[in-house]
Amino acid sequence: MLPHPMDAAARHAELCETLRRHEHAYYVLDAPTVSDAEYDTLFRELRALEEAHPELQTPSSPTQRVGAEPREGFVKVERPVRMYSLDNAYDEAELREFDRRIREMIGEGFTYVAEPKIDGASIEVVYEGGAMIQATTRGDGKVGEDVTVNVRTIRAIPLHIPDERRFTLRGEIYIRPQDLEAINELRATRGEAAFANPRNAAAGSLRLLDPRQTAERPLRVAFYDRVEEYADSHSAMLEKLAQLGLPTHREHGRCADIDAVLAYIAAFDRRREELPYETDGVVIKLDEVRLRDSVGFTARFPRWAIAYKYAAEQATTRLRTITCDVGRTGQLTPVANLDPVQLAGTTVSRASLHNLDLIADKDVRVGDMVIIQKAGEIIPQVLGVDVSQRPPEAEPWVPPSVCPACGEEVVRAEGEAALRCVNPACRGRLLAGLWYFTRRGAMDIDRLGKSLIEQLVEAGLVADLADVFAVPAQRDALLGLERIGEKTADRLIAAIEDARVGRTFSRLLTGLGIPLVGSVAASLVAQQYGDLRTLLDTEPEAIEATLAAVHGIGDKIAQSVAAFVADPEQRAVMEKMLALGVVATEPVREVVEGGTLEGLSFCVTGSFDRKRDAIHEEIEAHGGEVHKSVKKGTTYLLAGDRVGKTKIEAAQKKGAQVIDEAGYAKLLAGEALEPPDESTETETEEPTEA
Ligand code: AMP
Ligand code: ZN
Repeated sequence: MLPHPMDAAARHAELCETLRRHEHAYYVLDAPTVSDAEYDTLFRELRALEEAHPELQTPSSPTQRVGAEPREGFVKVERPVRMYSLDNAYDEAELREFDRRIREMIGEGFTYVAEPKIDGASIEVVYEGGAMIQATTRGDGKVGEDVTVNVRTIRAIPLHIPDERRFTLRGEIYIRPQDLEAINELRATRGEAAFANPRNAAAGSLRLLDPRQTAERPLRVAFYDRVEEYADSHSAMLEKLAQLGLPTHREHGRCADIDAVLAYIAAFDRRREELPYETDGVVIKLDEVRLRDSVGFTARFPRWAIAYKYAAEQATTRLRTITCDVGRTGQLTPVANLDPVQLAGTTVSRASLHNLDLIADKDVRVGDMVIIQKAGEIIPQVLGVDVSQRPPEAEPWVPPSVCPACGEEVVRAEGEAALRCVNPACRGRLLAGLWYFTRRGAMDIDRLGKSLIEQLVEAGLVADLADVFAVPAQRDALLGLERIGEKTADRLIAAIEDARVGRTFSRLLTGLGIPLVGSVAASLVAQQYGDLRTLLDTEPEAIEATLAAVHGIGDKIAQSVAAFVADPEQRAVMEKMLALGVVATEPVREVVEGGTLEGLSFCVTGSFDRKRDAIHEEIEAHGGEVHKSVKKGTTYLLAGDRVGKTKIEAAQKKGAQVIDEAGYAKLLAGEALEPPDESTETETEEPTEA
């Protein structure tokens, strides 16, 4: 039996009210008051009621969030008040400069307000008569796109508020990092590409043509601004918005001066990870609204606000061109050339694209906005594309058919993700090979930088790896090169002379760039043959058989070494090195039976008076093991100068004991070390006799 119309109206109002209250608790306050199942039951009751009494349905009913059909595109909306961007500060000095300018303009007697800079997509929302009537993206600031039907589906946005006036709010649409993980898992099961970060996911979800899809995305919003005069101060405005049931970030702090702002920034940085949204910084604003007019705007941003940006591990920028670097084996590595962008404290304009498959998988196109990430010290890599910002004319990238260095046709082997230049005389390959040969860890000729190598090749002084050792005899030719004075020439010559006789055979082997042979395999090969002459005098078949039997060298590596030695061109280069007086022998490693470091493993970090490699060799010679990074089972982290606290803490977490050179010397001498002190926890205990 249907309820009486009067009862129906009352029940409808009651259900709407209850559901709105639950939505507010769940999406705005982050403090759910009912279970999902209870919410669904109420929701279904409301929908049934509205089906029976369509006259009760209002546009702001919770059932009306998703209604619209997919559209063809978005209508452009010109807004009366432009949405500004924010000026950026990257360090304390820049913030103090901002503060100085403000005080110059308005003197003392003002307050700052600091608040999170949420990393999402900006949105402008208009309320009128208590209802949300329009939502637009930022666009170019002046003109945005109408995304009202999509924004209606966001349950954090009240469709109805107890304020009838017309007003305009600005805020950030975001996705919580944990929700993004869930979305990406789901997308993976459907074979869809993962979103690179919450920001992309938010921006993309906002601009979906089908609002039903937007409704499935767990979008949130935080408002941080109201365009019309509303309160005396920014902080009061935020509080009034919250009272209306509108979501805000609830994190602002009033700061009496710039020192207080810096304290807020430091404190906020420690809590950033725990917050339900991603932040890339802190926005600092003049709190007193009446003072803002005297400070004013530039063409692009207000002078009374600034965004302090934390050093980002990720950044988004425009991809201008894709070029290919030629490696020493002829492999072409695609590189993204970017509009310069700040990333982890440096300006970045190039990022690796790894290989052709990555470009195809992520559908990276010239003109795209790409997300780049810095991982360790290597050049940043392209993580993904923000497809929502793709220019309409962007075409999929077509890999080159010829080598960019020599112009010869390139090949792509079956099943390989890489293109290769197979021209042995390729200049690009030579440059990369020389760079590899002379770098640290190989022949270590640190005076020979990339541009100098290029100059030497350009001038015809170097045409293969061995020619490096012919350079000292050509001092005059060196001096004839641009930007090379006596000092530079002599230093370079000294460095080459040092390398000619001062490197181990394993380093020489590493530098030769034998396919598959890195420093570890090189060291095993070197121990087997002792020096280059002996290796060259051994039959390739014998080399293959011998090496394949060495623990740690597989069949493939053994074959690769044998093939390299058998290759007439490579042989010629190696013979030439010997003829030029290169002496590289492998010290016979006396692994002392019962060596003092037997059973111990070390990770060496920081700087020391001697080269780290020397310490590595010493550890191994005394029966210890060297770990490149601290892992489970690493006994000691040997820390030299300038080692970060985080590195030490991370090592301790993994159970490694941190020692300095003095501790290491003790171990080497066969003495025992004190166990690490557990600091404060043992304070109350009686000190134990050593
Ligand atoms: P940017 O994109 O670097 O120019 O920074 C400006 C953008 O930061 C604005 O368009 C907003 O979308 C965003 N933003 C995030 N949080 C805030 C905030 N608390 N106040 C102002 N803008 C913010
Ligand atoms: Zn080439």
